Amino acid sequence: MPSFHQLIADTSHHWEILEDMAGRTEYCSPSCLALTGFGPEHFLGRTDVLTGLAHSASRGELDEFLTGLRNGPTNMSKSLELRIVTEDGLSRWVVCHARRVTSSDGRMFLRASLRDISRRKALDMELKSSRLRDPVTGLYNRAWCMETLQRQLKIHAPGTYFSVTVMDIDRLKKVNDTLGPAYGDEIIRMAAERIAATMAPPDSASRISGDGFALLFPGKSPREVIKHIKRIQALMAAPFDLRGHEVTITASAGIVVSPMPGDKPEDVLRNANIALRRAKANTHHRYKVFHSRMFIESSRQMEIEIDLDAGLRNAEFFLEYQPIVCLETKRLKSVEALLRWNHPRHGVMRPDEFLPVAEATDFIVPLGEWVLRRACADMVALMADHPELTDLSMSVNISARQLAQHNIAETVAEVLRETGMEPTRLKLELTETMAMENPALTAQRLHTIKALGVKISIDDFGTGYSSLSSLQNFPIDTIKVDKSFVGKMDTSAEQRKIVRSVISLAHSLDLDVVAEGIEMREQWSMLKVLDCQSGQGFLFSHPVDMAKLRTFICKASPQVKQ
Ligand code: C2E
Ligand code: MG
Ligand code: MG
Repeated sequence: MPSFHQLIADTSHHWEILEDMAGRTEYCSPSCLALTGFGPEHFLGRTDVLTGLAHSASRGELDEFLTGLRNGPTNMSKSLELRIVTEDGLSRWVVCHARRVTSSDGRMFLRASLRDISRRKALDMELKSSRLRDPVTGLYNRAWCMETLQRQLKIHAPGTYFSVTVMDIDRLKKVNDTLGPAYGDEIIRMAAERIAATMAPPDSASRISGDGFALLFPGKSPREVIKHIKRIQALMAAPFDLRGHEVTITASAGIVVSPMPGDKPEDVLRNANIALRRAKANTHHRYKVFHSRMFIESSRQMEIEIDLDAGLRNAEFFLEYQPIVCLETKRLKSVEALLRWNHPRHGVMRPDEFLPVAEATDFIVPLGEWVLRRACADMVALMADHPELTDLSMSVNISARQLAQHNIAETVAEVLRETGMEPTRLKLELTETMAMENPALTAQRLHTIKALGVKISIDDFGTGYSSLSSLQNFPIDTIKVDKSFVGKMDTSAEQRKIVRSVISLAHSLDLDVVAEGIEMREQWSMLKVLDCQSGQGFLFSHPVDMAKLRTFICKASPQVKQ
């Protein structure tokens, strides 16, 4: 007859194992045999049976667990979840509660009580994997990305490759606004499909925000990563068919190559995002590799970005006007409106300091409209006082993002109507690089604007790579020779030659020429010899406020004596 205690052990649902302190099995319960599929000979009298049963992935942990118990104090107890392999080769999850016990004759044993938890583990894993997947795209989600990134950063050794890329869909908001958010989701899903098609382990793609994806590339060289990103960008460029609506999108990317030791996942993603914003501001290559310099710059840019909105609301922006004169007579022909920002902390800021941020964030659209309205209103007021300036015009700079707006011509028409400005007095200036970025669209937009009676100028000519003849498809009236050529024409024969050919080519195309940045009398004289009609520069006047411009106009005698 088995003892009362043996009966309990023999009929226990759990597997009961008793080992001596040398690891030799003294007892194992029938349920243990039933569950593992092994006979009693596999257990009784043999040492380290538990370690032998453990799956290789759990063995190290189990060894540590058992050593701790064997060397620990009497009555010590511990638990461990581990995988074991049964006789038929299947693996099962068990929880092992073990403790040191002393028998009535004073001998010490290790008693292990194990329970099968495979079902719970399977459910856990299922739940975990569904928690780590993004339901819209089926890609991994942010939680998975952060966890994986943390793990990969930990094992990333200096001198080995590891790149992290953040990619997002440009102007998805526009799709959401025009077609509705369901279409936006559809684009995200289809874009994710295109990304996923290019990825293979160990590379991974996760959706980490509305339209943001993180791509982890352990082991890929920066060159390979850039090639991969370009491939994804090329795939994105193919039109998406959204239930009958054909939509074309672009995707920008910020890349962190070999994160710094000690970088946390949030640091790496922040840096990738900084590079991404740079990529978005750059219209040629829509990807950028992060450089630590960008971090400092981006803190300032972030500050500017936050302040822009308040700046417009609080009337911190203002315009200065720079006269453009007839080089022969010095008669005022036009004024160029130049934007300034009286920033509450940084003082008066020049456009170069804040325009790139305004352009990257599309804030340039409302800001540019404000400039246009202000300039036109000022011009109308000026004309009321100076009706004698019959052919005076106002030049206003516009940016690529403004021109990309489908309703740009309507905006211009509305401003003209509201301010009462004569369309022929308005001249819009756009740079050569901007025009060549998307020549077909630019030409189309410019033609509709031109139909209003407004004039068009090509600014900073010579700084891009286009030839004058490539601008022939645009309805332009004026070419402005960049100040970098004008500035050196009195000292460099080479620069003089460039200015001369631009002027004669412009004349052959029947275009007006304005020379920018005239600071020296020599430059002025040379330009006159080259038959350049108009010019602007500090020699004639710095950009000034409206009151000073009025003084400039009123002065009967010319300001600069020849
Ligand atoms: P831009 O349109 O080529 O304007 C001429 C720039 O040259 C102005 O700089 C002006 O102050 C400067 N300048 C004029 N004469 C001289 C000179 O003799 N020597 C030198 N060294 N510089 C001279 P600013 O005001 O800093 O503007 C820089 C650029 O910012 C402008 O170049 C234009 O591209 C852009 N910008 C200015 N206002 C606006 C605006 O309202 N909208 C947009 N989209 N861009 C603007
Ligand atoms: Mg200009
Ligand atoms: Mg210019």
